[in-house]
Amino acid sequence: MYHRFDAVIVGAGGAGLMAAAQLAGKCNVAVITKLYPVRSHTGAAQGGIAAALANVEEDHWIWHMFDTVKGGDYLVDQDAAEVLAREAIDAIIELEHWGFPFNRLPDGRIDQRRFGGHTRNFGEAPVRRSCYAADRTGHMILQTLYQQSIKNQVVFFDEFMMLDLLLTDDGVCTGVVALDVETGEFHVFHAKAVLLATGGYGRVFKVTSNALSLTGDGVAIVFRRGLPLEDMEFYQFHPTGIYKLGILLSEACRGEGGILRNGLGERFMERYAPTLLDLAPRDVVSRSIYHEIREGRGVEGKDYVYLDLTHLPKEVIETKLADNTDFVRTYLGLDPVVDPIPIQPTAHYAMGGIPTDVDGRVTVDAQNTPVPGLYAAGECACVSVHGANRLGTNSLVDLVVFGRRAGKHMLQFVQENDLHPLPKEPDYRARAEVEWILENEGQEKVATIRAELQEAMMADASVFRTGDGLRRMQDKLVELRNRFTRITIDDRSRTFNTDLVEAIELGYLLDCAEAIVACALAREESRGAHYREDFPQRDDANWLKHTLVTRTSGGLELSYKPVIITRFQPKERTY
Ligand SMILES: Cc1cc2nc3c(=O)[nH]c(=O)nc-3n(C[C@H](O)[C@H](O)[C@H](O)COP(=O)(O)OP(=O)(O)OC[C@H]3O[C@@H](n4cnc5c(N)ncnc54)[C@H](O)[C@@H]3O)c2cc1C
Repeated sequence: MYHRFDAVIVGAGGAGLMAAAQLAGKCNVAVITKLYPVRSHTGAAQGGIAAALANVEEDHWIWHMFDTVKGGDYLVDQDAAEVLAREAIDAIIELEHWGFPFNRLPDGRIDQRRFGGHTRNFGEAPVRRSCYAADRTGHMILQTLYQQSIKNQVVFFDEFMMLDLLLTDDGVCTGVVALDVETGEFHVFHAKAVLLATGGYGRVFKVTSNALSLTGDGVAIVFRRGLPLEDMEFYQFHPTGIYKLGILLSEACRGEGGILRNGLGERFMERYAPTLLDLAPRDVVSRSIYHEIREGRGVEGKDYVYLDLTHLPKEVIETKLADNTDFVRTYLGLDPVVDPIPIQPTAHYAMGGIPTDVDGRVTVDAQNTPVPGLYAAGECACVSVHGANRLGTNSLVDLVVFGRRAGKHMLQFVQENDLHPLPKEPDYRARAEVEWILENEGQEKVATIRAELQEAMMADASVFRTGDGLRRMQDKLVELRNRFTRITIDDRSRTFNTDLVEAIELGYLLDCAEAIVACALAREESRGAHYREDFPQRDDANWLKHTLVTRTSGGLELSYKPVIITRFQPKERTY
């Protein structure tokens, strides 16, 4: 089937829907989404969305910008961080006007709470900057934005999976190809502009907070089409995943006063971050937890520590952290009101992704040359506002600020440009991929390869990395890729074939893992979430630069681009 739109958005999370809101009613726009829109991972976000509203305490956008830059270990592009911190305020007000049910102060203004790395006066002490709706902030964003989309008659293609991106020989984006998962039919979407908002790829790791669907589809498809990815070595582990399960317990638990304790009952963050303590940025806290465990101070000598909320009022735990409390009661059979909670770091957020400028335009080189008609926003994109490590509640605000900017720029682009013709047989690559998987007669199982990938990435490419471990991971990837060519799936039908979907997704995960490992091996320093035990220092002289990785016929090629520094010169990072 063939469709023609002015603009096509792939992904119905916060980023995609925020962009759609800018285009709806003004041009002909469609949203294609693998999941039913409100099942997007944005709906799982719990803790909050950052903006220097200063409703509870003094705050300024420039303090927010500074925290973002420092939190990102100075790999942040500061022009983008400035846009983020300034426009966050407007974006929150816009959400409020659209009916977002924020928690409020007695006088009716939006309430705010503490989150890791957000400080007053350039690092003095934690500040209350995160706006929230109990611990269901993302759920409310998604519902609010979806309601706006329905009101504005955005056309949705639900449970349509993008398989390919269409680019002309001279590099202009002309649309996408998608599989209708329900029927197995191929659909070609011809458009003047395409926005990729396909979310993250936490499923490359074994222990993760990410939903099953977060397999890096958009990131991998861009990579396959020969466009570069940026800063893929930077992957964030959130300190407080439920032990063994990885299900997230929001940083809001610590924002509301929760503390971390080791097996001796010590508040160990006093040793690692004397000023911000448990509210230091995530890279610092995750490493500290592992350090305690390695030194034998995990609980009962095992590989976990406690998140302790027992000193907080029952009412705070049950109302402001209601969902988190439910998770602990349901999955662990413990009660956070009286029991400390076993936690371990969990793979959480991709700082790297598809390079873009501050208007969401996908760029291809160190000069930031844009691909005409192609945009990206949200977790799949790398603007880069998070640099080497993202601060809590800075992703939701990234979605709304840069989703909105991308949408606005797309509107202008579709008004000023004509449709480019499609290539001949635009869906041939997508068809070939699906036919291959449906017909392949091998012995290998998708689930086995995926589990081995996740296990190996956890062992050799997660919080602590070494050259040897990363090389071992590269070899493992060669083996897994080989075995992937010999997969077989049980379901050979066309209708709602989840076996097929999972096989395609495994291909994307392998691509993402390959990019992560190549970039991590090359970067011989430690910065933010990328920690090399064999190169434990940050090295600004050689490595204050973004990585670009491109797939070529001769293998992966790495190149670098400068970090944009405007207001804050890199300094040593202490908390
Ligand atoms: C448990 C959890 C809690 C979090 N809490 C917070 C928080 O409190 N504050 C904060 O700032 N951040 C938080 N984050 C991070 C934040 O929620 C995410 O980074 C953000 O929601 C990503 O939004 P997105 O719009 O980029 O993508 P998502 O919301 O992940 O949506 C991706 C969309 O892409 C679509 N898609 C993917 N692949 C395809 C394909 N091949 N074809 C078609 N469609 C496709 C999906 O259907 C989906 O609609 C949390 C994350 C998790 C996992």
